[in-house]
Amino acid sequence: MNIVVNPANTQAAVKSGLADKLKSVLADLRDEYVQPHSTPWIIGFSGGKDSTLLAQLVFEMLLALPPRLRTRRVHVVANDTLVESPVIASHLQSVLDRIAGSIDALRLPVTVAKTVPDIDHTFWVNLIGRGYPSPSRMFRWCTDRMKIIPTTEYIQNQVDKSGQAILLLGVRRAESSQRARSVERYENGERLNAHNSLKNCFVYKPIVELTTEEVWQTLLQSSPPWGGTHRELVTMYRNAGAGECPLVTDKSEAPSCGTSSSRFGCWTCTVVEKDKSAESFIESGYGDLEPLLEFRDWLKEIREDGSMRMATRRNGKLNFVGDGRLIPGPFTLDARRQILDKLVAMQVEVSLALISDEEIAAIKRIWAEDLSNLSA
Ligand code: SF4
Repeated sequence: MNIVVNPANTQAAVKSGLADKLKSVLADLRDEYVQPHSTPWIIGFSGGKDSTLLAQLVFEMLLALPPRLRTRRVHVVANDTLVESPVIASHLQSVLDRIAGSIDALRLPVTVAKTVPDIDHTFWVNLIGRGYPSPSRMFRWCTDRMKIIPTTEYIQNQVDKSGQAILLLGVRRAESSQRARSVERYENGERLNAHNSLKNCFVYKPIVELTTEEVWQTLLQSSPPWGGTHRELVTMYRNAGAGECPLVTDKSEAPSCGTSSSRFGCWTCTVVEKDKSAESFIESGYGDLEPLLEFRDWLKEIREDGSMRMATRRNGKLNFVGDGRLIPGPFTLDARRQILDKLVAMQVEVSLALISDEEIAAIKRIWAEDLSNLSA
């Protein structure tokens, strides 16, 4: 691989106001990195523009340090819900591969990792196995299981090994008013803030003051230290006409997951009314995503169909709300079978791996248990 090593890459490429801002981000990163302790850094990496720029700046800072000072480990950690939009999943994987393939040649103390939900927590095992209705704003059971828990486990492991960990996030104040409120709520005027829920984990937001324009300007005028270009990233945003689903590591960040402000999410996401990013991808030529979009729409539709839902919840109880309305329970076993058959048929049609054999085995185990409970 032809790797371009140019620590001054980013600074040189941009106008002076922004260059000053980036210089100060790099100085801040360096100052934090050379602190006299070995607490590892964990970069929350989604493959979107903000975390890509963050990883690039961290790499540039490390490359500017003499190798003997590159002593603290930096983890680049992405989360894969296993139902990521295929275009985004493939972009993320190719960037992770590039990063992983570059670290030896660059002599960087970097570990690349991808976290996935436990088999019992995947989208399909819950939706098709347990019959959970496709997620909605009122019952969004997925974010915790598919994003927060896997990432938290990774961070917790590092905290257990090293006593502490520093989580670097590419969040920015200018991203949205909601994000600005969240940034303000947790900041204490210090560089590092205690993580909302993870003990001994500190959050560091090095690019919090950059604007969206500055992020794009920097990316467009530089190339990543791990090789390649940012062209695919730019094209992906252009085709999706959307924002990104950030790496979610705690519940306070979760509201942005599955909303219109954050649309690089799961292809199965039924929290939003319409999957605008999938629609834009299809318009831009990704015709093979069309069956997936139709399937998502169908999952959303059947959630409202009482005949496909059980009357009782999984605990066998009826669920009435304040005004006496009965809230239906999970999908019936028939409906679950129908969803699985349709998904497996589509998987063949589009030649994409959409559900694993392991998930199908877990689903069938749950069905067998449910059947025996029903007949008991
Ligand atoms: S993008 Fe949607 S389906 Fe995926 S975790 Fe977020 S809310 Fe759930």
